[in-house]
Amino acid sequence: MIQLLWFKRDLRLAQNYALIRAIESAKEKGPVLFLYIHEPELWASPTYSSRHQVFLRQCLDDLRNSIENCGGVLIEKVGSCIEVFSELCAKLPVSRVTAHEEITDSWGYARDKSIRLWLKDHQVEFVEVEQNNIQRGMGLQRPFGDWFELASRAKQRDPRGVDLRRYLVSELPSGIALDEALQNGALPHAVLPHTAPLPCPKAQRGGETQAHAILNRFMNWDSLKAYPYSISSPNRAVNHGSRLSAHLAWGTLSHAQVAKRINDLIAQAHETKRDDVLELESAARFYLDRLQWRQGYHAHTELNPDNDSQEYFAAFKAPDAWPTHTAEYANRLRAFEQGQTGIPLIDACMACLLQTGWLNFRFRSALANFACMGLGLYWKDVGHILARLFVDFDGGAIHWSQMRIASGTGQFDQLLVYSIAKQSREQDKAAQFQKQYLPMLRQVPAEYFHDFWLRPAEELEPFGVALGSHHRGANYPHPIVNPDEATATGKKWVYECRKSGPIPRYTRQT
Ligand SMILES: Cc1cc2nc3c(=O)[nH]c(=O)nc-3n(C[C@H](O)[C@H](O)[C@H](O)COP(=O)(O)OP(=O)(O)OC[C@H]3O[C@@H](n4cnc5c(N)ncnc54)[C@H](O)[C@@H]3O)c2cc1C
Repeated sequence: MIQLLWFKRDLRLAQNYALIRAIESAKEKGPVLFLYIHEPELWASPTYSSRHQVFLRQCLDDLRNSIENCGGVLIEKVGSCIEVFSELCAKLPVSRVTAHEEITDSWGYARDKSIRLWLKDHQVEFVEVEQNNIQRGMGLQRPFGDWFELASRAKQRDPRGVDLRRYLVSELPSGIALDEALQNGALPHAVLPHTAPLPCPKAQRGGETQAHAILNRFMNWDSLKAYPYSISSPNRAVNHGSRLSAHLAWGTLSHAQVAKRINDLIAQAHETKRDDVLELESAARFYLDRLQWRQGYHAHTELNPDNDSQEYFAAFKAPDAWPTHTAEYANRLRAFEQGQTGIPLIDACMACLLQTGWLNFRFRSALANFACMGLGLYWKDVGHILARLFVDFDGGAIHWSQMRIASGTGQFDQLLVYSIAKQSREQDKAAQFQKQYLPMLRQVPAEYFHDFWLRPAEELEPFGVALGSHHRGANYPHPIVNPDEATATGKKWVYECRKSGPIPRYTRQT
């Protein structure tokens, strides 16, 4: 008998409760063989791109290295989960499959349901282990405060470097064919499922080792103190935010590991009697609020697995609610996706995402809000474009909840509307961020950025800017809309649509 430990978005060995469960039952259920499945259907989704595949590759390489150091074997397979489990269960005496309860979009939710049934039909036990305080079908497992207490006191279990051979399958079982290319840590495009190509030259690196390096960089008193004052500005957040989102999204770190480090840091501040302990505590609470929101959105998605697809209001469902078939719509969508709207703040955000795969929360929110309300783009189209760009795309939970808030199509009562002029003036006063990502505007005085769309072309020419999209010599597009006017109109339309009333629907809460 052997057990399969099926990694999904829990790509780590330390504090991995699915792994702990599997090892604890090795005597009864057999040694553990590690598995990762590259699913073609997942990679074909409009929310995924090659930058996720690169990050995942780095995570798997690091994981394989750690697993081999413990004496185990990680196998990677390409195929649908049912195909892969059919092959493995036919060739190996599989007694049990263990995985964590993954919080995903509606596709992943349906996939998990079918796997559960398939394994049951084939008399293979399936154990799913809770991760990050979210319980399948139930939302939060514990109130955040109770969870934090437990997480801070939990015994830390990090098997990296420990000889675990007596619990693990230590050689590739005979009869299991593996694609050599996949096992060698390359990105073999002929083997991997196809996904949208979207290179990311300055992306964060994946892997559990890298996750701990970033955690160590952030978890010190100075960083924590700077955090609350930094995250709204794209210039400061890049260095003073925790930058842990991609690692939390892919599970190279768990919430509990982060919570424990925060708790230790504050305990040390008390022990050493620092005189800024109150300030540190308040910054820690500010940070933990974000972790709590993360859990909240995951819980919401677990209870509303169709959050990425269903309309909540009748008027948004009408066939022509979004004129997605028109040429004007296609132009706007393309301009947004390529960062060619002629609104510097928006184009700088897109250029930053194209290069780095990351943007701070405030500017993500302003960007999505402008795309939906200012440009009138359909929330799903915008959500797909951004998901492909975000290296930290979390499979859907935070992402679709935030897209719903930004577009006004969700269940949240208040309508969000950002003024691009205000964000530019307040968060990028010297236009440092906008100039960094829009080199053709570097000579333009900072104050012009805050009302760029009101400036006639002649006023910009002396600073090397030639507006236009088609004429020779043009180096920056004409503003596609006046952002403040366009978002005001968009907000009115969304408000009217919401008056059509919510569509009665099934949620797991009702
Ligand atoms: C339209 C839109 C889509 C988004 N999509 C994603 C996504 O796919 N994946 C993702 O991880 N984040 C997403 N976010 C949330 C947020 O922008 C990022 O988590 C944050 O910018 C990551 O940077 P950081 O790790 O330095 O965050 P920090 O400021 O250091 O925050 C700490 C952690 O808390 C979590 N967090 C922070 N802000 C939020 C929030 N508003 N809601 C829920 N959790 C939060 C993240 O895991 C983050 O790593 C989205 C926001 C918007 C507006």
